[in-house]
Amino acid sequence: MGYKRNVQAHPMVRERCQDLILDNDTLKKIGDIFLDNINRGLKKATHEKSIVKCFPTYVQDLPDGTETGKFLALDLGGTNFRVLLIELSGEHFEMKSKIFAIPQHIMLGSGEQLFDHIAECLAIFVKEEQVQHETLPLGFTFSFPLSQKGLTKGILQRWTKGFNCSNVVGNDVVQMLNEAIERRGDVQIDVMAVLNDSTGTLMSCAWLNRNCRIGIIIGTGSNGCYVEKQENAELFNDVDMGSGKVIINMENGAFGDDGCIDFIRTEYDREVDKHSINPGKQVQEKMISGMYMGELVRLVLEKFTKEGLLFGGKGSDLLFERGRFYTKYVSEIESDEPGIFTNQREILEELGLKHATEQDYVNVRFICECVSRRAAHLASTTIVTLLHKMDEKKVTIGVDGSVYRYHPHFHNLMTEKIGELCDPSIQFDLMLSEDGSGRGAALVAAVAARQKKNALS
Ligand code: BGC
Ligand code: MG
Repeated sequence: MGYKRNVQAHPMVRERCQDLILDNDTLKKIGDIFLDNINRGLKKATHEKSIVKCFPTYVQDLPDGTETGKFLALDLGGTNFRVLLIELSGEHFEMKSKIFAIPQHIMLGSGEQLFDHIAECLAIFVKEEQVQHETLPLGFTFSFPLSQKGLTKGILQRWTKGFNCSNVVGNDVVQMLNEAIERRGDVQIDVMAVLNDSTGTLMSCAWLNRNCRIGIIIGTGSNGCYVEKQENAELFNDVDMGSGKVIINMENGAFGDDGCIDFIRTEYDREVDKHSINPGKQVQEKMISGMYMGELVRLVLEKFTKEGLLFGGKGSDLLFERGRFYTKYVSEIESDEPGIFTNQREILEELGLKHATEQDYVNVRFICECVSRRAAHLASTTIVTLLHKMDEKKVTIGVDGSVYRYHPHFHNLMTEKIGELCDPSIQFDLMLSEDGSGRGAALVAAVAARQKKNALS
């Protein structure tokens, strides 16, 4: 292709990266284990012990394009915390939103502080938008594992990503939100639904594309959901009305927490895990998502440098500093045209690695590619497993998240790998879902509001 000079990654570097490369047989094996995990999550008898939880979301109907009205949404658990005001009408929607910071001391503080902060941000926003005197329906995108007892009742199972607030695990987060709002007393809301960002992504995509049946997040964290037949969702069995279907939030970021994919984990994976705030937890997520990808690359770079394979054996303080190689660097480095290293040169200089040679550039890019491809291939395996399970011939997969969105090749890597692994009789396409956590929340709230109205009439 467009290589200016035909420099390849050093044979030693290639050799040492072998354990980051997963061939199709290995991916198929992982897919088989994953399918078994899904089935155990769905079944009453095995759910409790299952690592992949497959929580029923209580979302049973996909949007049909007739959703209308004004909604508030909260989006907690991605890169940013946002409050949104969304107006749906026919195929159009308008949205205003505001990003608020969640300071580290709140991410690691008490649950009450967290929900007070959320309520305060909401109050500021509705006053700015001058809707503080309306009681608007609200969709709460809360992107952590919830065991749902209804559309507006979700018990937090564990924190993930950078959060670890006390006194929330085991509690209903909708109730905690309502209580925080009552403590303030200056705004009214009507929480119509609490949902996962993957569910929002599926809904947002389904609004425009009737074949959408799967929602995938590859962002700060990673997860997926899909439309399941109600009879297979045993935990949901007691509810007998509705469409006969229900969206399942798999919480497959936890896949591997019992050691079942240890055979593909590397020393870098174990190192990332060891220094995370949740060691032993979210094993697959730590191999895929944006919160960890940069650090995985950095650990490889650090190791190879110390072995003399990179930078003439001379690293830098920043290169050896935990968390200092950002995931966006991986996207930037792989955005360079092959053979040209404009972005990479800048990044390495920023890290104090001015002495990098052209061979180093090629090696570093190769290492980034190994780590990001592995992530794309694992995410593809998740999707192929669902496609084989679902028994539909044509499925659109809504995808969102910073890694999928900003990595220059992620979409193509996934499309290619799914094509290789999937039964050719199934047609699929991956679609970037526009703002699942925002618009998706409004759609879930709208569908719920419609059902509430129908039930009353
Ligand atoms: C959470 C999921 C979420 C995903 C993506 C994971 O850490 O457990 O609930 O969907 O991140 O935000
Ligand atoms: Mg989001």
